[in-house]
Order: sequence, then C-alpha cells, then structure tokens
Amino acid sequence: MNNKQAVSKKGKVYLVGAGPGDPGLITLRGKFLLERAEVVVYDYLANSKLLNHAPAEAELVYVGKKGGGLHAMSQEEINRLLVEHGLTGKRVVRLKGGDPFIFGRGAEEIEELVKAGIAFEVVPGVTSATAAATYAGIPITHRDYTASVAFVTGHEAPGKEESNVAWDKLATGAGTIVVYMGIKNLPVITKKLIDNGRSPDTPVAVVRWASTPQQRSVVGTLATITEVVAQAKIAPPALVIIGEVVKLRETIDWYEHRPLFGKRIIVTRTREQASELVSKLEEYGAECLEYPTIHIEPVEDFSVLDQALVELGRYDWILLTSLNAVSYFFKRLHEKGLDSRALAPCKIAVVGKATGDELGKYGLCADLLPEKFTGEGLAEALIAAGEVPGKRFLLPRALKAMETLPEMLEDAGGAVTVAPVYQNVPPQGRKDELRTELRSGTVDVITFTSSSTVTNFLTMLDAKDEAELHELLHDKVKIAVIGPVTAETVRKQGLKVDIQPERYTIDDLADAIAAQCRSKASV
Ligand code: SAH
Repeated sequence: MNNKQAVSKKGKVYLVGAGPGDPGLITLRGKFLLERAEVVVYDYLANSKLLNHAPAEAELVYVGKKGGGLHAMSQEEINRLLVEHGLTGKRVVRLKGGDPFIFGRGAEEIEELVKAGIAFEVVPGVTSATAAATYAGIPITHRDYTASVAFVTGHEAPGKEESNVAWDKLATGAGTIVVYMGIKNLPVITKKLIDNGRSPDTPVAVVRWASTPQQRSVVGTLATITEVVAQAKIAPPALVIIGEVVKLRETIDWYEHRPLFGKRIIVTRTREQASELVSKLEEYGAECLEYPTIHIEPVEDFSVLDQALVELGRYDWILLTSLNAVSYFFKRLHEKGLDSRALAPCKIAVVGKATGDELGKYGLCADLLPEKFTGEGLAEALIAAGEVPGKRFLLPRALKAMETLPEMLEDAGGAVTVAPVYQNVPPQGRKDELRTELRSGTVDVITFTSSSTVTNFLTMLDAKDEAELHELLHDKVKIAVIGPVTAETVRKQGLKVDIQPERYTIDDLADAIAAQCRSKASV
C-alpha cells in the first residue's frame, strides 16, 4: 500500500493515545490536537473528562467498545466512520485508551485511512500496563528482580490452536509479565505458566480501572490469584502483573494511600470558582462530582445603577463587597461609555483582599479595607472613621443579599442607595442525576463554600418534604462548610455540619475534609 502523506484538501485523522484513565496522563501533543479537533471519536477506555479539551462545537462520537464482546460498534464500523469523517475534510481526533498501538487495533484503523488516501498522525499514549503498575506501587523493572518485561494479551485462551502467545516460553522467558484482557482466562493463564516452570509462589497483582478514582488492586501468587480475584469480584478492565517486582508494592504503594482516595465529594461552587477546591481534593485522591449551584448573571434591571452613574458626584462612598460586585459594576460602567475616571468624586471601600485585587485591575486602590471581611465589619469601620452621618453611599451588589450593611449605615445616619448589578440563579437540569448519586449511597461529602451554595443546592435537590431531604442527605453524607455563616445556613435548614475548618479558606477546607475522612487504606 502506498502511503503518501500529501498535503490535501481531505481531512486528517489523528490517532491519539488518551492514556490509561487519569486525564492528567495525556501527552501535550494529544491535548493540543484535542483543542483543535472538529470531530472526536472516542471509546470507553478513554476518560470522557478529556473531551472537555475539545472545542464546544466539536462533534463527539462515542463508539463504545467494552471487553467481552459487548462492542457498541464493530471495528469495521469504526474504521468506516473514521474514513467518512476524514473525507469531509475535517480534523478528526480518534481518541484511544492507553497507547493506540498496544492492543489497540490502531494499525487496522490506519490501514483503512491509507486505502482511502486520508492523511494521519499517531500520538503515543501512556499504556495501561505501565500506569497500572506505577499506580499500584510496582516498578515493572528493577535491577535486583527483573531485566525484562513482556506485554501479553490474555484474550486468546492459551492452548487454543490459533493462540499467538507462546505461554510455554514466556513462563520463564520474561522477568515481568503484564497481561492485558486476562481476567476471563486467568485460571488457564496461571496454570499454563506454572505447568511451564514458573514458580507457583510468583507474586501477582491485578489492578482494575488503574489510575482512576475507582482503582482497585489485589495481590496473590500464581497459585492463589484466581481465587483472590473471584473473591474480590474483580471484573474487566484489569491488568495482571506477574513477577517478583510485585513484592515492592509493600514499600512503594502510594496512589491508593492518599488521604481521600476512594472518597466521592460533591463540589457546589460555580464552575469558574470550583477548580481550586477540585484540584486540591483530587490531589488528596478524591473523586469530585461538580454540581455548580450558582450561575451568576447580570440583573435585568439596571435602572438604579444607571441613575447613580449619571450623578456620581452626589455620592461620598462606593461600597464593593464582593468580586462579582466589582466586575459587574465596571462592566455596566463601560457599557455606559464611562471608565474609572468617572469615580473620581467618590471614595471606595471593599470587603476582602480578593475584592481589592479585583478593583486593582481597573487601576484603582481602595480607600478602606476593613479588618473584618464582612458587611458588618465594613459598616463598623466606616462608623469608627466618622464617615457615616450625613454621607451618601452607593452599594452595587447582588439582587438578593443580606441587609446588615445598609441597615447599619442608615441607623448611623447615612443614606444608602442599593443598586443590584448581578444575581445568582440556580442552574437547571441535573436534579435527577444528583438525586440518583445521593440515593446510591456512594457520596461521602458535600462541600458548601457560601450560604447561597446551600440554598441553591437544596432548591436544585427539590426534596418534597423534610423526610425526603433526610433520606437524600442521610447520615453517611458528611456536610463540609467553609465558615460560620455557611454553617448557620446549613443548620437553619435542619441539617448538621460535620466538617468546618478553623480558617475560612479553600485550602483549609480541603485539609479539614482530608483530616476527617482519611480513607481506610491510609489509617
Ligand atoms: N491500548 C490500550 C489497551 C487496550 S486493550 C492500552 O495501551 O492500555 C484493553 C485492555 O487494556 C483491558 O481489557 C485491560 O486489560 C487494559 N486496560 C486498559 N485501561 C485500563 C485501566 N485503566 N485499568 C486496568 N486495565 C486497563
């Protein structure tokens, strides 16, 4: 076959190794191509989180493919599909679990592309054998134990006439043997290796869903592993690692020992804000389920602010109590054809350092930053500075917010104009999924980082009465909150708070969760 990689108007198909499961294990080249894909064809071993790298408008095509013959689409159909998409002139990423050329039938897909004259590229991936070994604490080579490794498919039952695997020679010919797709035939494989001279005491590890939060691993020997796997009910996808190196797991095992390994945690912040908490919890080994409960939108009616903007000279102070207040206030200011210079007549006060930093983006420094990061703290600071009696305040803020600040200022003789600039709206649509997750009993922790995450989460949950609420948020689900105000909101709803850090930061929240939920593996 002549494979001319000509520059053509036809599309190009990229066979990209997705890595073993952990979405962090894709190559930079793979990520680069996904970010530019027009079509992504993926199967079940490729972590679907990787699809987030693809542009929102990319066409995503799932082609299934589970072991044991449950193929959502046959290999021939997949080949045909790749050719069809390639012929449309698009950039197609064919995302394949692990490495495309290690038991991945990548070559067969390419042969069809070559026949159709479609250009292609192959990006290697971290194969599941090395990832499973590493994430189970097993170095597949070690100078004291083994100098060779064999990757073998266990799909073909040993002894079958058509088997291409020389099990008799492998038995003593390779130091470490890693078997892909070997669970079904494990009894035959282990017997064949023992019959051909490998010691029945050879250590063996079986690792399922390696490098994902669902990873499970068991160990035994060639003589016992079949029974161990049956007892533990380990089903595919799993890898079998055979050899003396398995012993090193006792010292090196790390992945399953992280403090939150195996824990499933609901994160309720907005998608933009959640990433910091999610990455911290994931580093501790948790699986995060993101249910953003807050979606921030501008208000529909800006009339109060618009009026204030044309008479800014009448105000003594502008009070900005949140990051969103700053960004939506300035957005509107710009929409009205104004910029920071329009604020010259007023002093500006902010609550919190992050809000002050946001203000800095517009070239402005706050005149007042109270020590206590609350609306009450701001009111107290203004009162103490003698800045309230007879003064006028503009307070751009959320449509629904606590009235403490304006009330305290009014009581002290100030005049406050509350100008709503943004609103929190609960995102729609994932109620059923959320309820199913909670009912399944596999959620360990729910995190709340503000009062509105609590109320919006409960609105989203939509329990019909208190009994149903307690059935969904049963005792096994721990509630973690960032600070006392959020804790109070949780308690007002008749729920209990299980975890609360001493300092109100995301890092401290993650640490407090890790401290209270140390997984069994790590005790
Ligand atoms: N090309 C892939 C292998 C595909 S064959 C690679 O390079 O990894 C499918 C087999 O790979 C599964 O039956 C299982 O044995 C193994 N496998 C793939 N991903 C796995 C994972 N995350 N954990 C354990 N085994 C995995």
